[in-house]
Order: sequence, then structure tokens, then C-alpha cells
Amino acid sequence: MSNPVQGRAQLRKLMQKEERIFLFLDYDGTLVPLAATPEQASPPDRLLETLGGLCLSPGLRVAVVSGRGIDDLKSFLPVPGLYLVGVHGLVIRYPTGEEAWRNGERGEIRARVNKLARKLEPLVGGKKGFLLENKNIALALHYRLALPQEAVEVMRRICEEVRPLLQESGFIMRSGKKVLEFCPAWANKGDAVNFLLSDWPGALPVYVGDDETDEDAFRAVAGKGLGILVSQHPRPTAARYRFTGPGEVALFLAEMIRDREYLL
Ligand SMILES: [Mg+2]
Repeated sequence: MSNPVQGRAQLRKLMQKEERIFLFLDYDGTLVPLAATPEQASPPDRLLETLGGLCLSPGLRVAVVSGRGIDDLKSFLPVPGLYLVGVHGLVIRYPTGEEAWRNGERGEIRARVNKLARKLEPLVGGKKGFLLENKNIALALHYRLALPQEAVEVMRRICEEVRPLLQESGFIMRSGKKVLEFCPAWANKGDAVNFLLSDWPGALPVYVGDDETDEDAFRAVAGKGLGILVSQHPRPTAARYRFTGPGEVALFLAEMIRDREYLL
């Protein structure tokens, strides 16, 4: 774990001659700025055009890898040719429209999620600024708009009252940026990346992400590909490179489309 370096030009050079690149992109905080609520983070038209352009580029496969549910991703990103990976790698939607569930029965996971939701609801019910999002196979508790003191109190009660149930259900709690996520312990962005890569031998993986859950994917591509952390300031990470924010990611993607054109 070290501080990543900034260097778009260096990255472009490394990718220039690669015949196959599998580009993995996180969504929130990477392709779009973090928003107060999940539905406010809808993609601008320009981003959809860029993703469409990337999917048409020669020798390039593109996946959006997110903690969001797959339905959310489908409605936000109606881009032909795009792979969608939802709930931290648990569900994969192929460009053909086929969906694959990785490890686990849909119905069984759903039942466990609902049980957890029933436990969490009374802890946040009636409190301002909390949003409990049921993604059917995972739960997210957003507290960006909550009063800090109230958020601390809710976290304390969750640790005391919900932790035992998590263990019993095989779920883990991950903390993100003003969000707590409850998802199956086996959901892991790094595993999903490896799974997709195994389908396309020889491809160079490039992973761009901003959050703690992206670290699994940075570790998965370390040594065989390029990990790019999106963060305004340097911080310890398994990624080797850093972009300052979604604005720089957009520049990088536009440059990539131009660079790939020369391969034609
Ligand atoms: Mg993110």
C-alpha cells in the first residue's frame, strides 16, 4: 500500500499498444460526482456518449462495476455493449442481456436481506436524513443528510444490535462515503473482475474507482494491470495511479477513445 502517482500521459503510453484492454469503471464518485441521494447521481448525456464510444472502440471491453443494484445500473446506463456488474460483483449483466448470479441463490439472499431490513428500519425510522435502500440482494443505509450526532448514535446501535444477525446471515457491513452497506460476505469487486478477465485471455485490466470497496479490485489487477484511484488527495491504496476526480476520469476516457482509433 503506497501513495499512488498522478500520470495520465504515462498511462496512455502503457495502454497504447495493447490489443485487448478490459476497462472496469466504478460509478459513484468515479464517473459521476457523489450526490446527496443515489437517484440524484444520474448520468449526464455526455457520459452516456463517452461510454457508447468506448464500447465501440476496437479491442476494448468496458464494464461498470458498482455497489448499486443491477436494475439501477440498467436504467441509468442504457449503453449497448456495456457490461454491468452490480452489488459489488454479485450480479453480472452481459452485453447480450444475459444475467449471471455469482455464488448464491437469489431467493435465499433476498430473504436474508429482508430480515436485516426489518431489524434496521426501527433504528432509522422517523429520523431525518437517513435513507435505507433495499437492493433486494443487499442493503445500503445512506446518511449523508443526517445530523452527525444522530448518525453516530445510529451507528452505535447498529453495531450492538445488528452485528450478530449479520454474522448469522453470512453478511458483512462495509462502510463507504456516508453510506453503510450490508451485503453477502462473498460479494467482492475483485472476484468479479477476475471472473470477467478469465473470459478474455491476454487482456490488460484497467480498473478505476474511488472507494474502499474498489480496493479489492485494485488488488486483483495489481501486477497484471493498472489500478487507478479517484481521489483529490493521495492516500494509501493498492492502486498505482491516481486521478483527481470524475472530471479527470472523463478526460482520460475521451483520450482513450481517440487513442484506440489509431488501432483501426
Ligand atoms: Mg464509488
